[in-house]
Amino acid sequence: MAQVAFIGLGRMGHGMAGRYLDAGFTVAVWNRSKAKAEDLIARGARWATSPEDAAIDAEAVVTMVADDEASRAVWLTRDGAAATMKAGTIAIECSTVSYNHAIDQARELRRRGLIYIDSPVAGLPDAAASGKLTLLVGAEPADLERARPYLAPLSTTIRHFGAVGTGTVYKLINNLMGAIQIAGIAEGLAIAEQAGLDMKLVLEAIETGVAASPQVLRHSKRMVARNFSGATFTAALRHKDAAYAVALAESLLSDVPLMGRAAVEAYARATAHAPDDDEGKMIEIVSRSKGAAT
Ligand code: NAP
Repeated sequence: MAQVAFIGLGRMGHGMAGRYLDAGFTVAVWNRSKAKAEDLIARGARWATSPEDAAIDAEAVVTMVADDEASRAVWLTRDGAAATMKAGTIAIECSTVSYNHAIDQARELRRRGLIYIDSPVAGLPDAAASGKLTLLVGAEPADLERARPYLAPLSTTIRHFGAVGTGTVYKLINNLMGAIQIAGIAEGLAIAEQAGLDMKLVLEAIETGVAASPQVLRHSKRMVARNFSGATFTAALRHKDAAYAVALAESLLSDVPLMGRAAVEAYARATAHAPDDDEGKMIEIVSRSKGAAT
């Protein structure tokens, strides 16, 4: 059976690795902290002692880690996966990384004879665990065809945007627009609360109004109820994505990306407050009244 190495078993990666086991692949797993791998090992995954060890004999290596730094650590350090990958092996980066990182990494891995696909994902941890992600792919068409059997267990939709890096461009603009919207929802709701409006009525009006995007619908109720149980996407990850997107914007747009910078600043504050809390807690950052102590 096809052999996959899966590296990074956080909220998203744990479920994604499980999909390969469900689909009958031979799976080697590695995570910085081993505890998150225990049930996957019980289900038949081989525990690898390093990314390098996980990649031995793999036909494809898939990574799902936090950011550029983590991605570099698992691919390109001395015990990184690239150290043992044979020429022609497929490298699939599912983590949301910066555009420059995706391009630099693609260059370095290709120099070693590997096939590189950038495939950040859209979907929450439940979609990751049930194989219902949308994959946002940047790849040469022939490389994507070779990678398809390894992408299939993860996804219901593959959107191929073009060459390597384009999947990451789309992911970053998507998450920047999300960051701006979520910060905007928090600000709007905080104003309504401080002005003493009936928040049940406000929610009803939002749901039927023109601002009701899926993002607005998902976050507004939870923000009003201050219900942030089961954080799926953290303030720190949202801040990282918005910052990567603004760096990309600054390399492409002549005007200052005003909205993006405001969102980065808002999420920098939320991250300083509680990095691992749900991104929706932005409401708590912006809802302090003028009279409240700072
Ligand atoms: P998470 O639960 O915080 O997991 C992060 C993973 O990265 C863990 O496996 C962590 O290892 C590993 N990691 C962090 N720093 C590392 C380092 N320096 N070296 C090696 N490994 C390191 O995050 P997540 O929610 O699964 O997100 C993973 C990626 O998917 C991120 O790029 C995120 O932006 C993206 N994403 C997330 C969602 C979502 O809804 N959560 C949706 C779409 C895309 P430990 O377990 O040892 O800490």
